[in-house]
Amino acid sequence: MNEFEIIRTYFLRQSVARDDVVLGIGDDAAVLAPPPGRQLVVSTDTLIEGVHFPAATEPAAIGHKALAVNLSDLAAMGAEPAWFTLNLTLPRDDEGWLGEFSRGLFDLACAHRIQLVGGDTTCGPLSISITVHGFVPPGAVLARAGARPGDRIYVTGELGDAGLALAALRREIALSQSQLAAVRERLDRPQPRVAAGLALRGVATACIDISDGLMADLGHVLAASRVGARIELPLLPLSPAVRTHLAQTGWDTVLGAGDDYELCFTVPPGREPALRAAASRFGCPVSPIGEIESGSGLRVLDASGAPYRPVRSGYDHFGAR
Ligand code: ADP
Ligand code: MG
Repeated sequence: MNEFEIIRTYFLRQSVARDDVVLGIGDDAAVLAPPPGRQLVVSTDTLIEGVHFPAATEPAAIGHKALAVNLSDLAAMGAEPAWFTLNLTLPRDDEGWLGEFSRGLFDLACAHRIQLVGGDTTCGPLSISITVHGFVPPGAVLARAGARPGDRIYVTGELGDAGLALAALRREIALSQSQLAAVRERLDRPQPRVAAGLALRGVATACIDISDGLMADLGHVLAASRVGARIELPLLPLSPAVRTHLAQTGWDTVLGAGDDYELCFTVPPGREPALRAAASRFGCPVSPIGEIESGSGLRVLDASGAPYRPVRSGYDHFGAR
């Protein structure tokens, strides 16, 4: 199969057909019509086999996750998904793999009405790079820099499942079949919190998606906003699997393992009623975990109110390991 047959067979047909795509896949470039009065939000993320997903990951899950991590960035900005491009590098023209990969990719694209409008297909070590485009009304974007002392800090969903799955795959921890299946699903098929991001416009003062671990990503919000914060370990939302193994893993799996793809955001006390109204549209739970303080740095307090010292704080591709 050559490059053009791959594109025609696996990427040309899709169920999302948006009115704002003037010219999609097939020409030298796509032509797109952003709605009048909207700002364009653009983000890109690459997945490399062995770095971002284990080599044994199902191809449909790779397709899902490649788009999910990008949609998660749009969610964190409060943007409405519209278009994406796909730069795919493949070691060979494996039709079984391509069929499953494109199914996983397009199932998620369909769920969020985001249309594939172009890309590039090359031969080499497996790598998937996606660029997403979305819209926000002017001034409505959820940036990292808006947190203020007194704001409460919240997270969507539950933390640490993906980290527990990775620990199990590395054989650092033993899980039952059903526990492994549950956390593996969270590692392989994260659900981007797009609805929550949209509902948080005008409510959250700052927002980020948790890709590198809560400590590291909340740390980015604190640095951008020039504030400090306090979070309380007993408030962190955990799945039964993570809670059961907490004594073995310690809190570092929850605070620093990453790959959660939940949103962490801040809300001033006066907007709590607005948050309660918005939360009904999230499609997932939301939990308060602490408070923004003046000063700098993140204080993590255990059940007795004593400071907890994390061993590692987040994933850094170039950091010492
Ligand atoms: P060019 O040589 O002009 O760069 P290509 O042959 O790379 O064009 O691509 C032809 C068309 O197919 C373009 O519209 C391009 O955006 C699209 N395309 C290529 N690879 C992909 C892909 N993996 N997914 C979606 N569209 C793709
Ligand atoms: Mg090209």
